[in-house]
Amino acid sequence: MTLWTSAEAAAATGGRATTAWSASGVSIDTRTLNPGDLFVALTDVRDGHEFVVQALERGAAAALVSHVPEGVQEDAPLLVVGDVLAGLQALGQAGRARMRGRVVGVTGSVGKTSTKEMLLAMCADQGRTHASVASYNNHWGVPLTLARMPADTEFAIIEIGMNHPGEIAPLAKMAQPHVALITTVAAAHLEAFNDITGIAVEKASILEGVVPNGIAVLNADVETSAILMAKARDCKLRDISFGEHGYDFQLKKAVVQGETTVVQAQMGMEPLLFKLSTPGRHFAMNALGALAVMAALRADMALAVASIGRWRPYKGRGQRERICLDPVDTRLTLDLIDDSYNANPTSMGAALEVLGAAEVQNDIGRVSKGRRIAYLGDMKELGPDEIALHAGIAHLDAVKEIDVIHCIGPLMRSLWDLLPEARRGEWFETSADALPRLKRHLDSGDVVLAKGSLSMKLGLIVDAIRKMG
Ligand code: ATP
Ligand code: MG
Repeated sequence: MTLWTSAEAAAATGGRATTAWSASGVSIDTRTLNPGDLFVALTDVRDGHEFVVQALERGAAAALVSHVPEGVQEDAPLLVVGDVLAGLQALGQAGRARMRGRVVGVTGSVGKTSTKEMLLAMCADQGRTHASVASYNNHWGVPLTLARMPADTEFAIIEIGMNHPGEIAPLAKMAQPHVALITTVAAAHLEAFNDITGIAVEKASILEGVVPNGIAVLNADVETSAILMAKARDCKLRDISFGEHGYDFQLKKAVVQGETTVVQAQMGMEPLLFKLSTPGRHFAMNALGALAVMAALRADMALAVASIGRWRPYKGRGQRERICLDPVDTRLTLDLIDDSYNANPTSMGAALEVLGAAEVQNDIGRVSKGRRIAYLGDMKELGPDEIALHAGIAHLDAVKEIDVIHCIGPLMRSLWDLLPEARRGEWFETSADALPRLKRHLDSGDVVLAKGSLSMKLGLIVDAIRKMG
């Protein structure tokens, strides 16, 4: 199906098409390019112009470039613009402008992708839905998502993120959401902000992009909720609040039962009961926010509640799997919680709560009961309080429920030093250093959590555990 013709793309970007072409998708990476895609030669990490020949060989319909790259034939299908990123942004804006459906913008310190995936699961059951891939939420991710959006999309779910002050408002203005959701405001990327107020102000700036008469869905439980609500008033938006203190969507109870979370909430005066197929109170909060968005979209709520039961965490964000350790005796298994994608104090607390409440298997094939074991890596970008924020984990209630905590990275040393001897595992400089010890650390019946910032590569530990099977 045609997404962009050369004429449409040239009109959107003010660029010059060298030939007539039509593209069925948009790609920024030749490794994942599909034949028929428009290849966008971004210069973010490496100069994309170096890959144009390869993209065309792989079947790209055309390439968006700022000059004709070396080695590219004269008559190659190109769209030549002054600046490639500006070109992508213009294409994104045009993609948004021609769409007649409803757009949801999702921001927050944690839970954006998890909630975006919940919304995707729910909206897909109610209409043609388009959503950001993975965490493509920045200055190229948002326009890429919009440029990829089919014109007949009924629901678009756009993740909007930030590392630096001032990033969210222009992205929100590009996405022009009908409904904007702020999942949480917490200590993440603190390096770039003075304090939590600064973070709240930045998150609230998503509301500047919401269309007139749009709706703000706000977390009422964060300490900065008043800032969010004041911003909604300034932007003349109706707000819907969710959380334990939520006025419109109030969380009454979220009880982890084995592999599920049973949630009791109140939607206005009506009871709202639902069950997630994954344990975690934080996921219940995300789900409540997502359901509030569905109500703002005037969606079928009974269907939305049914759809959310099928949601599973996105890879690396608390995804669970059972690993069989013995091909002969299939009762010998351990449970892995892969939360290796990212970490900050809020999501670390949430993950430890899940591990602390996890059911261990009984003594199948071993003398003692299974244990709850954590591999915790450094949390990055936390600014001057980073040591205290790592050490603070030692005082969380959930830690008392965990049998062994192994620590990885220089910052996690401050937690390791504070752990009581009985729970203290080993300390490693890097995840790679822990690998040779895994077979000694782990046994059947154990539940194992791996969590840390992406650059700490806890994924190496996760992969090695998977290979123990
Ligand atoms: P990023 O900024 O990296 O894109 P994100 O905001 O998209 O992050 P997710 O990827 O959904 O967030 O989740 C990141 C981590 O936070 C995961 O470990 C996830 O389990 C956890 N998490 C998700 N939602 C919440 C929440 N409401 N409260 C605490 N932790 C959460
Ligand atoms: Mg994300």
